[in-house]
Amino acid sequence: MDPRLRPPAGLPARPSARPSARPSAGSSARLPVRLLGVAVAVALIVVPQAGGLPALADPAEPAPPAVRDFGNGPERNEVAAGTTGEASALRGAPAEERPYGWSHDRGYPRRTRLPLPAENPADASIKLGLVPYHGIAPKLNELQWRGDRVSAEIIGSSAQGRDLYLVTVTAPESAGQAREQARIRERIENDPAAAARDRKLARTYKAPIFINGNIHGNEWEGADAALRTIEQLATSTDPAVTDLLKRTRLYFNVTANPDGRVNNARQNGAGFDLNRDFVTASQPEVRAMRQIMIDTQPVAMLDLHGYVNGTLIEPTTPPHGANYEYDLFITNTYANGLGMEAAVNGLGYTPAKDGVEPAQIPFRDSAEGWDDWPPIFTPQYAPFHGAVAAHTVEIPLRVNGSVYDQTPAEELRRRSAINTDVAAAAIRATYGFVRSRHDRLIADQIEVFRRGAAGEAAKPVPLGIVPGFGPEDVYTTTFPRAYVIPAGSGQRSATAAARLVDHLIANDVRVERAKSSFRSGGRTYPAGSYVVDMRQPKRGLANVMLEPGADISPRVDAMYDISGWSHALLWGATVEPVSSLRASTVPVKAAAPTGSVPRTPGPLALRVRDAKEVRALNDLLAQGVAVTWNGGTAIVPASARQAARTVAERYGVAFTPASGHLGTSSGASAGVQAGTSSGTSAGAQAGTPADPAAGTPLGQVRIAAAASADELFTLRELGFPVTPVSTAVLNAGFDWSGTDVLYVSSGLSHAGLNPAARTALEAFLAGGGVITRGQTGARFNADAGLLTATTVPGRGDANGVVRTVSSGGLVGGGSPAHSFVYSPLWFTGLGPEVTVEQSYAADGPLVSGHWRPDGQGAGGPDAARGQAAVVSGRDERGAAVVLFGTEPMFRNHPKGLFAQVARALYWSSSVTGATVTTP
Ligand SMILES: [Zn+2]
Repeated sequence: MDPRLRPPAGLPARPSARPSARPSAGSSARLPVRLLGVAVAVALIVVPQAGGLPALADPAEPAPPAVRDFGNGPERNEVAAGTTGEASALRGAPAEERPYGWSHDRGYPRRTRLPLPAENPADASIKLGLVPYHGIAPKLNELQWRGDRVSAEIIGSSAQGRDLYLVTVTAPESAGQAREQARIRERIENDPAAAARDRKLARTYKAPIFINGNIHGNEWEGADAALRTIEQLATSTDPAVTDLLKRTRLYFNVTANPDGRVNNARQNGAGFDLNRDFVTASQPEVRAMRQIMIDTQPVAMLDLHGYVNGTLIEPTTPPHGANYEYDLFITNTYANGLGMEAAVNGLGYTPAKDGVEPAQIPFRDSAEGWDDWPPIFTPQYAPFHGAVAAHTVEIPLRVNGSVYDQTPAEELRRRSAINTDVAAAAIRATYGFVRSRHDRLIADQIEVFRRGAAGEAAKPVPLGIVPGFGPEDVYTTTFPRAYVIPAGSGQRSATAAARLVDHLIANDVRVERAKSSFRSGGRTYPAGSYVVDMRQPKRGLANVMLEPGADISPRVDAMYDISGWSHALLWGATVEPVSSLRASTVPVKAAAPTGSVPRTPGPLALRVRDAKEVRALNDLLAQGVAVTWNGGTAIVPASARQAARTVAERYGVAFTPASGHLGTSSGASAGVQAGTSSGTSAGAQAGTPADPAAGTPLGQVRIAAAASADELFTLRELGFPVTPVSTAVLNAGFDWSGTDVLYVSSGLSHAGLNPAARTALEAFLAGGGVITRGQTGARFNADAGLLTATTVPGRGDANGVVRTVSSGGLVGGGSPAHSFVYSPLWFTGLGPEVTVEQSYAADGPLVSGHWRPDGQGAGGPDAARGQAAVVSGRDERGAAVVLFGTEPMFRNHPKGLFAQVARALYWSSSVTGATVTTP
């Protein structure tokens, strides 16, 4: 299942009508407290029922796999410890190297002989009687040659290097016909007003349908249902199928997560939940799915999950994403949801005979807890590329987790066979729906893009547009005329700006660049500034990434997952909304280069304010360049000028003359982010002598990390050598000689260490570095007797974007004015040795997200006002320690915060002399 929500063990009696059963917006009706997690907030759909209790989680269901910090189950670093360097080798391949075989110019079928993976008898699918990963390619090869309807292409590879397969099923097309389809698709997106007037368009155009299987690796049967459907469509002689394939193209991503399928894991091989990664696209599987949606522009899509009994079929509860064209979306999505429900219930499985409960539709049957607010999930991302019906489907019978281990294979196979039937019924209902509503779905997709291109105001959805659509379902936003990502001194970080621009372009958002300076909103923006004109077909996607987001705490009691993510506030670049736009611009395909090295001879300075600068510095350190660390700035000797040039080009970073580092560096004139109360402070850097002798020698920072998978991934991506550790690893006798800094956020308990491990740790702590994050880290700080600080937890399920004030210290100086929190912490009762690096804004920290006080009125955002969020200090032993109450590496998303962690690492290792530069 998708453990945002623990499924009811058996669906209780449903309310006869949804509206009467739902609390009004802002109701303070308490929902059951949920376990909290990052990848998962285990919740609750409250299934309202007349006179009944809410349906609670099945008590037999074990805790979900990825609970963060709260000791409620295995921690994520156990997943991460199994990851290898393979992921990094595949990561970040530029688009032109993507092995994606999409072509507009080739007809169908495109018979690709897929390479056969080695047989793997340990593939977890086998026990369930399902197709193992290595069985998929032979099956697709066979189907491609059995007829002329099936085409298979390799569209990328997983974190562990497995091929990803996109299968297209359609009636044969000549190359000319395929080009015609591509031309219409382009026209729908790029000239929607004309497409809307073209009455012949829908007669010619094959409606695209996207079926995504198995994105959670241990929710297997979506892939098997996809294979079964492909085979049926390939071989059927039914005239209805022939007609369907003349009027549609069906695209199947057979298994979106082959690593997890093989490994019996929800996550991919890098330990990431792919169905949380769509705003970030940190994983290759997600970049492949994103490209499918951009290239095929589906009108309808299904994301096949398990396990919720009865089968859960979206649309969702509130809150609803404010950037969708929701009137079009809910109309089609609810209609197809009802059709899928009928098809699933029509299979004839019963509670008594089969243990299969009737299907449920959260929008209709539940008050809240299964929302479509964050576009981190596949069906909540697809609408921005034109899907007007998009659904998560959770098939009913659990076969994963402890059930997989403890249930006889015969029973597991019975369940998996039913699950496959259910998933296949959902697919069948969906293609039937698209066939029957063909012209209207195409027209609605055109209308989505037309409203965007015309820059129309967000359209209010009429109450009752579908039965039960009430005031509690209305969420809306305001689109600015454009967003400007300024060039020059108004830009906090040119490298961060370039990264954001490239990310927008990769998401098919149009970005332009000003040819000359222009005025907007009383400001002058220099030539070279980037402009995201909101009059564009995919303005919803642009806005959902660039708007600050909203504080939705008052409107719902509980959220399924994160509630804030703004790229404008968290990715380190200055982004400004403007209400008018008169600029001469050119479209850009990629951000302009940002790297530079001054011609002036002498030592060079690299201010570490962004992840790219961290990567560049770690690259130099790995080469053995003799760098000194000077309060947030790396000083590189003149002798390393050539190495500096190379990394400047590779990472797009700008060096300055070290002599000019004093006060007049570009950093000191950094701009202030839009809407922030506190600027980025040059802080301790200003006035610091640039004399290399004044800094401390810095070598490669070697990290022992008891951390979650996303943190390990991020630290490695930044170029730090990382060794995963845990309580068990330290108890087994850990050699500390290769470690400069210990990072603790997960899986390490000081109380759980044996005497020998404690002695070894004490020896390390005398002059070592320690960085902690979250409750586990704070507990380690207390138990190990490091900094004097009392940790105060905010409400556990609170999350979002917060305003922060940096005090300009050694770690906080140069930080953006916003941070991200999930289960926020703050620190009080600070000892004299402790410095506050960053605080929550005194005028109220929450910008966007969901953060309420707990039942006793504690732990809310008001309690956090002005409190210390990040602190540093040196303890009596000489350990250099930094405590984070924020989430600076959460799911690899808040790119603008990564450098803060890096500065903590550089500071703690250099000040203790832990790292030694090798000449
Ligand atoms: Zn799932």
